[in-house]
Amino acid sequence: MTTQETIELFDKYVIANYGRLARVIVRGQGCYLYDAEGNKILDMFPGWAVSGTGHCHPKVVEAIREQAGELLHIDNTFYSEPQGRLAQLLSERAFGGKCFFCNSGAEANEAALKLARLHTAKEKYKFITAEGSFHGRTFATVTATAQPKYHEGFMPLLPGFVYIPFNDVDALESAFSDEVAAVMVEPIQGEGGINIATGEFLGAIRELCDRNGAVMILDEVQTGIGRTGKWFGYQHYDVEPDIITMAKALGGGTAIGAMMARSEIAASLVPGKHASTFGGNCLACAAGIAVIEAIEEDGLLGHAAELGEYTMEKLRRLKDKHHIIDSVRGIGLMIGVQLTRPGAKIVDKCLEKKLRINCTHESVLRFMPPMIATKEQIDEAIEILDGVLGEGE
Ligand SMILES: *Cc1c(COP(=O)(O)O)cnc(C)c1O
Repeated sequence: MTTQETIELFDKYVIANYGRLARVIVRGQGCYLYDAEGNKILDMFPGWAVSGTGHCHPKVVEAIREQAGELLHIDNTFYSEPQGRLAQLLSERAFGGKCFFCNSGAEANEAALKLARLHTAKEKYKFITAEGSFHGRTFATVTATAQPKYHEGFMPLLPGFVYIPFNDVDALESAFSDEVAAVMVEPIQGEGGINIATGEFLGAIRELCDRNGAVMILDEVQTGIGRTGKWFGYQHYDVEPDIITMAKALGGGTAIGAMMARSEIAASLVPGKHASTFGGNCLACAAGIAVIEAIEEDGLLGHAAELGEYTMEKLRRLKDKHHIIDSVRGIGLMIGVQLTRPGAKIVDKCLEKKLRINCTHESVLRFMPPMIATKEQIDEAIEILDGVLGEGE
């Protein structure tokens, strides 16, 4: 089908709830996308952080092929080996918790919020989240998402949510009470513009949760699975949360989400309280196992840390040349370029020149290269961006 024919199909049959670019992607390999017109695009924002190990990583593809020939799905009435093995691999790379599997980031957060309510006393029903956060689109998680633009049209939202400015310890203390069941934040806010949590903020959350019998939830949907150069974002800090949630890069391109909770807390999720039909299905779990093995076998954690430094250094050098760049921030391969003006046009122009990046929060260019990217590919991306910025507006 031609690009035009595919777009016509969408116009007729697919709900238009996304602002889409007029390109049809037909293939992806590593750091590159190929569209229906034969263009090859350097992808520095693969699948909105889903393809952390690159598009169609050979080890992930092979694991999926193998699992597909054995068993695609078995319901959670039974045990299945891939689910158990993936839980073990995740647990050993985090704080030794137990996992519940679902299919997306929002579902993982939804599960975390429900578990926090189940685990804490009945009078505890409040959740504290941070301004600029993004936690998903279900009713509970969009309520947790403390950004007014996501709330428009959905009032009244779920009761009990209290919003505080990100990294504001005083506001956190004032918002706390006996009624708080949980605090949920991202270690690095992604959609909110690559805002890095301070150690003081996460430490205060830990302390106040302990003092008040509340649960500390870290949303690692974007920061997890190696993106920051460590398995999880919290590992850059001196804190251990009670629950982490993950999704995006976990399945290497398959739909999977997971919530991991400390064992004492996990024990509150008894049969009948929460479930997911597809959660922990063999195919997605086999892919998840392959993602973790690929990251380890290929040394991608260290590579992500090093490549992140390299990328940020190069971006900072661009700042001297282009005054539209205000600052560069990030950890590992989760990188934001703060502009002094909106960046949507820059993203469009980069795509015309076959580079895909993203702009979030109006004026933050987001670079989230796959962990398999090379320095040459980063150089190529920065050269394209340099050219686009040089053209002006
Ligand atoms: C993408 C994202 C989500 C939502 O994940 P979905 O899979 O789209 O439901 C939640 N939290 C964070 C931090 C995210 O980046």
